[in-house]
Amino acid sequence: MDYYSSQISRLIEELSKLPGVGAKSAQRLAFYLISRPVEEVHTLANAMVSARENVRYCRQCQTLTDTELCPICSNPARDPRTIMVVENTRDLAAYEKTGKFNGVYHVLHGAISPMLGIGPQDIRLKELILRLQGDVDEVIIATNSSLEGETTAMYISKLIKPTGIKVTRIASGVPVGGDLENIDQVTLLRALEGRMEL
Ligand code: ZN
Repeated sequence: MDYYSSQISRLIEELSKLPGVGAKSAQRLAFYLISRPVEEVHTLANAMVSARENVRYCRQCQTLTDTELCPICSNPARDPRTIMVVENTRDLAAYEKTGKFNGVYHVLHGAISPMLGIGPQDIRLKELILRLQGDVDEVIIATNSSLEGETTAMYISKLIKPTGIKVTRIASGVPVGGDLENIDQVTLLRALEGRMEL
């Protein structure tokens, strides 16, 4: 990219490393940023750095948060005896948007995938098992209905069954291979309400 100055080329190169941003979008974003007031770009850059530096995993549910205990885990109105297991923080957000789930979550940050070499030790399962030593009435497995999501659900249910804790799986109103975050709230609620004991 010799036809751009080195600063512009560098910005384009960095932006094109972002997921879903191709060479063309990176150029468009770069020129957009350059055209904005410098304070506005500072605000964006600061938000990125600050989020990266301060966001961590919730001590309990493992979701991404900037406090030791996330707002859901530290809310006394939530029922800590009902734990919904999701693959990532975006899925948690999708269920939170429905406003109908009053329990707490456990975020795995991935799913078991023998094909990609992702095993149970590569996701936050240990942390879930530890939590089950407390008072838990039900674990709702809300992993995606993809092969990986189903594999993970089976694995977790086999782990939990011997403890006597009720294990349920959300109904398969969720399209196969569908990401929970892209599914509308009505479908999510139906999947939650129609959950079946495993
Ligand atoms: Zn939490």
